Amino acid sequence: MKTWLLPLVMLLAALNVNAQTAEIKSPDGQVSVIVFTEEGKAFYTISLDGQPLLLPSRLGLVANYANFADSLTLKEWFVDSRTFDYTMTRTKASTVNFNANVLVANFQNARQQKMSLELVVSNRDVALRYHVFPQEERPKSAVIQEEVTSFNLPEGTTTFLSPQSHPMIGWERTKPSYEEVYGADRPMAERSFYGHGYVFPALFHVGVSWVLISETGVNGKYVGSHLSDWSAQTGYTIAFPMEGENNGIGTTTAGIVLPGTTPWRTITIGKTLKPIVETTISYDLVDPLFSSSHNYLPGRYTWSWLIGQDESINYDDQKRYIDLAADMGFEYCLVDNWWDQRIGRNKIEELSKYARQKGVSLMLWYNSNGFENDAPQTPRQLMNTPMARDKEMAWLQDIGVKGIKVDFFGGDKQQTMQLYEDILYDANRYGLQVIFHGCTLPRGWERMYPNFVASEAVLASENVMFTEGNAKREAFDLTLHPFCRNSTASMDWGGIIMNRHMSLDNRSRHARHTTDIFELASGITMQTAIQCVAMQPNNLTDLQPFELEFLKQLPTTWDETLFLDGYPGRFVVMARRHGSEWYVAGLNAEPVAKKLTLSLPMLAGQTVSYYKDTPEGNPVLTTLKIDKKGRAKIEIQPNGGIILK
Ligand code: CA
Repeated sequence: MKTWLLPLVMLLAALNVNAQTAEIKSPDGQVSVIVFTEEGKAFYTISLDGQPLLLPSRLGLVANYANFADSLTLKEWFVDSRTFDYTMTRTKASTVNFNANVLVANFQNARQQKMSLELVVSNRDVALRYHVFPQEERPKSAVIQEEVTSFNLPEGTTTFLSPQSHPMIGWERTKPSYEEVYGADRPMAERSFYGHGYVFPALFHVGVSWVLISETGVNGKYVGSHLSDWSAQTGYTIAFPMEGENNGIGTTTAGIVLPGTTPWRTITIGKTLKPIVETTISYDLVDPLFSSSHNYLPGRYTWSWLIGQDESINYDDQKRYIDLAADMGFEYCLVDNWWDQRIGRNKIEELSKYARQKGVSLMLWYNSNGFENDAPQTPRQLMNTPMARDKEMAWLQDIGVKGIKVDFFGGDKQQTMQLYEDILYDANRYGLQVIFHGCTLPRGWERMYPNFVASEAVLASENVMFTEGNAKREAFDLTLHPFCRNSTASMDWGGIIMNRHMSLDNRSRHARHTTDIFELASGITMQTAIQCVAMQPNNLTDLQPFELEFLKQLPTTWDETLFLDGYPGRFVVMARRHGSEWYVAGLNAEPVAKKLTLSLPMLAGQTVSYYKDTPEGNPVLTTLKIDKKGRAKIEIQPNGGIILK
């Protein structure tokens, strides 16, 4: 029987027995992690080039058969190295290749029960998880009741966090759904808005350095976790789902099979924001869970619902959005809620046929729910049981639909995490790609599931439509997410918005507060393999031809992503490469124009297209000569953007 983790190659790894302190460094020697025990409790610290980023922070967990939080002894530890080398074509980087060092520390509690800590340290990320083992032959299964893993950041750290909401509040009792406002540069001691702590990902500014904390590899084998409120003694601690989630059904704890493993908790660190924006740690630590014979195509989709809302879900309007997608060369058109009632199944078949004749594929909206909330939109109860799902998905494949958007999930309990996986697995059998809304943060899913596209899990574009207050905050949100929400996972923000006003006539209701070039550039800064372009048919005539041309050729998958400049919530400039072509995009949320000198060695000596705003906020296309050293002087208007390509 297997107990504890041991080095794969005993001769290569130094085994340290009965030392109460273990140390591991990154391959470049800059990141140092120390693991130790004190009075029976296990701790770890992280420093970067001598600067402490995590002060002694707790390790361990409490299972129903064993307490691995107290009376721990560090029995032995060893360090190994691991190469991460893989390709993935649907996110921000297509080729990943780096080395990391791995520490395994084997702990024993007072009853001689065993737990191993596995800790991976690369030059920009630290990740940790636990392996727990049965005592002898039993138990073969366990309940993880609590984790004490904490993140104890130094005094003076400021936070970029989104609160976890109360369960069963909001629209038809659909929360929590990761749709709360992110704060920026807030003090750690400030209580979270609802008193339930904060969702992942969580960004921290620690002196001159940055720390991004999240988790990955979570599916139906565990719960989705979040962070507790801050405490002066322990910092932030891993918190499990709340009792009331999922209409109170299901436990807040995690059931695992023994020997068993907890999900990876990831800590990305840097002296600049470069590692924070460029990290692929969510994907590095997970494996594809199934392969696919289907060829899932990335692309763009038109979406009537943002501006047209429920009234636009009718046959004629959807035909216009299919025509719009065809005119723009987009691959998809998403028909949102109530289509089964407002259009009907026979007419949807007709629409799908019409779309396919024009080279466009339909994606259809579904309500996830059975009993977990009151969201009334139909179709309901077709995604929550395997029999209903199977029948529905077979029909979708039959009529040529290529994707589904499933909305309104019940929280982060283990059974809800299982529902996401079940939907993805079944959808793959019918060649359907999946977008989730009203949902949890995806945790490594772009790599785990070949047909997963993106999740909302953000206070998204619909809010820009709903209220002017949210419209005013759009530039703040979209200059924050590249450093946080969208760095750890693909994000279905729900649209590059091209109407100047949030109405069909493009004159009434409140204005969009960003410029056109801001919106076009957001198509590069926001990452998802199927990007929503929430333009309206009227935009074909009221946008400048060069704006339409830009949208027609906009890629959505990237071979490489580089951070160039920025500060979360204020401005961001990044470069992404698609094939051999670089796209540089900048967004400015500050009230004054931002003058920057960018370093673009990959474009040295070239003259590139330069999309920018006039000081009045009107879009212009000009050219910019990048000097021989790769320097480019640019200026981004307030609530404006730039693109170089
Ligand atoms: Ca939503």
